[in-house]
Amino acid sequence: MAPTQFNQYIGKVETLSEGQLEHLISVAKSRQNRVRQTFAVDVARVTSACAHCGAVATVRNGMSRGAQRYLCKDCGRSFNAATNTPLSGLRNKNRSLEIADCLARNLTIKQMAAEMSIARSTAFRLRHRFLSEAVNHQPVGLAGLVEMDETFFRESQKGSRKLESIAEPGKTRPPRHHGGKPKKDMTEATPRPDPKRSELVPVLVARLRGQPHIGDRVLPAMNKTQVKNAISDWLGAEALLCTDGSGTLRQAAAELKVPAKHVAVSYEGRVKEGVYHVQSVNRYHQALKLWINHDRRGVATKYLPNYLAWMRMREWFKDDLRPERFIESALGRKVINT
Ligand SMILES: [Zn+2]
Repeated sequence: MAPTQFNQYIGKVETLSEGQLEHLISVAKSRQNRVRQTFAVDVARVTSACAHCGAVATVRNGMSRGAQRYLCKDCGRSFNAATNTPLSGLRNKNRSLEIADCLARNLTIKQMAAEMSIARSTAFRLRHRFLSEAVNHQPVGLAGLVEMDETFFRESQKGSRKLESIAEPGKTRPPRHHGGKPKKDMTEATPRPDPKRSELVPVLVARLRGQPHIGDRVLPAMNKTQVKNAISDWLGAEALLCTDGSGTLRQAAAELKVPAKHVAVSYEGRVKEGVYHVQSVNRYHQALKLWINHDRRGVATKYLPNYLAWMRMREWFKDDLRPERFIESALGRKVINT
């Protein structure tokens, strides 16, 4: 419908009686459901290679629970778009949309559980089932100015019954208590870590200047080998890497033979040399910290990659982050960093 026509429609809502309003809402809801179901079928149609053996010789084989079923001519097994994805076994397809909707709306576990009438533990499990696939949806072969910098999150075992020592795996550690020097706000930069303080978890972030492409990786340690492993696929032949001059990133770039510009760091802060700076990636770090530490009230380190992926989805789609995106992504389709 044309925008002007739509505005005329909306303008008339004011004139409706209560009964008419009720009627309108129910019509609109049922229309929404139909649109969404059509979408679910569309998603199912995308995948036709065998989920079990990868063969492409497959035929459609009826519908099951609202999704297209396929039969593989090679191995003789049947599958649908969700088979062998994090969504396989979700009995109700509409449930998928509800879960995805909670992610798109940035709901907390408590809100999600209340809205869907499920236990919080279930909501938590479902959230991570939907996010895990997107962890691997990283940029490939970026061309252009790529800003890269690391940031640190405090190691957290939120939700665990036993606290494992990071320094001595297998041993437990005493809980840390809240307190210490309070931060002025959540976006305040975390100081450069002391390498001996293993409770800080390094997260490497690369951001393509002027584009929504973002790569991230939680590193077991901030060293050259880990950095090289993380970034080698991200950067293409046309990439120019811009870092803040930290030795690790500099060495990794040199060994990968990636053209790089390293901006000097002084006591006054980072020096900006024309277009060479890491301000966009640092702004992203701040947004990420605010969202994780404030909106999400901190997350367990184990789940940090999933939250990074969620944030990448938010950054990629901005105001147009629709629930369907989370479903597609959970089905393994790369909808970001394309
Ligand atoms: Zn097969």
